[in-house]
Amino acid sequence: MIILPRKYVKYCAIIFGVALFFWQLAFANNGSGFLEANFFDIGQGDAIFIEGPDGFQILIDGGPNSTVLEKLGKEMGYFDRYIDIVVATHPDKDHAGGLMDVLKYYNVGEVWIGVLENYYFSQSEFLRVLEEKKIFVRYVKTGDNFNFNGLNVFVFNPPPNEKLKDNESSVVLKILYGGVSFLLTADITAGVEKKLIESAGNALDSDILKTAHHGSKTSTSENFLKIVSPEIAVIQVGKDNSYGHPHQTVLERFELFGIPFFRNDQNGDIEIISDGKNYTVNLEK
Ligand SMILES: [Zn+2]
Repeated sequence: MIILPRKYVKYCAIIFGVALFFWQLAFANNGSGFLEANFFDIGQGDAIFIEGPDGFQILIDGGPNSTVLEKLGKEMGYFDRYIDIVVATHPDKDHAGGLMDVLKYYNVGEVWIGVLENYYFSQSEFLRVLEEKKIFVRYVKTGDNFNFNGLNVFVFNPPPNEKLKDNESSVVLKILYGGVSFLLTADITAGVEKKLIESAGNALDSDILKTAHHGSKTSTSENFLKIVSPEIAVIQVGKDNSYGHPHQTVLERFELFGIPFFRNDQNGDIEIISDGKNYTVNLEK
């Protein structure tokens, strides 16, 4: 054991503090010109954290519980306590469950909810907490689009005037950075996929597909895959889940179309980094 004189201990503490500060700073804002999309391994559910090239942050769903806080802490570092946008795609627990904790521990710029979901969310505490914390709620709908310093976000679902329930009313987003695009389909059904093909057509075409409804057999239809024509797919799914997700039919469909897929239950956290032209996939396992 090395025993340092008292005055050196003080200097060591200062050096350690400065090192910690810069280490945290490196996490706080990527500001690197790269987009980072993290598909967190949070058990059965969805939680996607996207950081734009200038550090703009969007969290899409929060998984079933507070595990999302651990994942966000690792990505954002200790000092970053602000998320620009939190999207609650629909009220199911495996998507919205962890968002209550996110609202507790982070300051949030605005929360996006599907235009028709006011009623469903009002059954939970979610809207009450948003009101109490005075967080701006944006009710998004098909046709909305936004640009956040080079990060384009298009809303494909839910439509403005149709009464849809739960999974069908999921907020569907396409996120585009340069020439690289992500289609995030939450828990939509094959019925919604059909409507999206009719309403959006080739605009659905994307490089990376977040597989709908954890790879359930009632989604990811052949026609939808044909029009999206993804290069790769991500399946957000929990280990040994009781639903039998992902379904073999969907996996076989990916194989038939020659689409490599990554799944959280086998690969852990899935991170995709892009410079707007190419992208790389980093797997935890
Ligand atoms: Zn779900």
